[in-house]
Amino acid sequence: MSQDTFVSLELRARVALEKHRFKTTHSLGQNFLLSESLIALLLDDAEVCPEDNVLEIGPGAGVMTALLARRAKRVLAVEVDKGLEPVLDDVLAGEDNARVVFSDIMKADIRALVDEYFVGEPYRVVANLPYYITADILLRLTSSDCPPESIAIMVQKEAAERVMSVPGKKQWCALAAELQFYGSARVLTEVAPEAFDPPPHVTSAFIRIDRWSNPPVAPKDEKAFRKLIRAAFAMRRKTLVNNLKPAFGLSQEAAREVVLAAGLDERVRGEALTLEELNRVLDAFLESSCIL
Ligand code: SAM
Repeated sequence: MSQDTFVSLELRARVALEKHRFKTTHSLGQNFLLSESLIALLLDDAEVCPEDNVLEIGPGAGVMTALLARRAKRVLAVEVDKGLEPVLDDVLAGEDNARVVFSDIMKADIRALVDEYFVGEPYRVVANLPYYITADILLRLTSSDCPPESIAIMVQKEAAERVMSVPGKKQWCALAAELQFYGSARVLTEVAPEAFDPPPHVTSAFIRIDRWSNPPVAPKDEKAFRKLIRAAFAMRRKTLVNNLKPAFGLSQEAAREVVLAAGLDERVRGEALTLEELNRVLDAFLESSCIL
């Protein structure tokens, strides 16, 4: 615990940002959460506990990082902006179980980072994410060879709606299908723009995705399954047959045979399919002579 525990983290962060003349960069999604009481509520919702190893993406000014460090076993925070280093040094002084690595999360070797810092133990992700790469980060984490046990993150409200959508709905998309293959998702709370500094132009939602212990489908080849999901949704309003053709270099007849062998109507649209139906298409693929 820090020496000056009686100074609020929000004040410490504001003083550090001022002292080091830090200017936020819009293109890095730098909308900070500085209110300790709000972050405490978010961490309550995320059920962060003393045995948790937490990977935080984008610690910013470090208020959430410090609060995570006080609740969890270890915190590893990956921040792309080296300009935040002196701010984080000030705000995280004394939080001995928090470590910051300056790196782009989209290029970082997640396996090496978590293996080194969490010594092979399971970990969770908790973050107020940069919105410009929300989907890419989520897909990178959930499809990695060392996925987290759960993910509790702030996202744009529209992104939350997409993640929660179901087959047959307008927003059902490859992102929702891939994330629901990884885990069960729910919205924990909505957060108004004024809670952030500076405020973004959108409403946010704090969501949680818990990795399945028993996934709803068990594809024979996970990598191929993800590729198939992305192909099925590639061009909306096209039939699954027409989406499979360019993605896998199939003839009309070969794509049609796969779809029929999966027990589906040849005019079905990829975007209408459930995970279970997509898995049947994968099985049909693997049983055919087509290479995925
Ligand atoms: N967690 C802090 C908070 O709640 O105040 C900051 C949140 S702010 C929305 C997003 C943070 O992610 C910023 O600090 C930004 O610099 C960082 N960031 C943006 N792109 C990143 C990337 N590719 N890898 C790691 N961090 C990134």
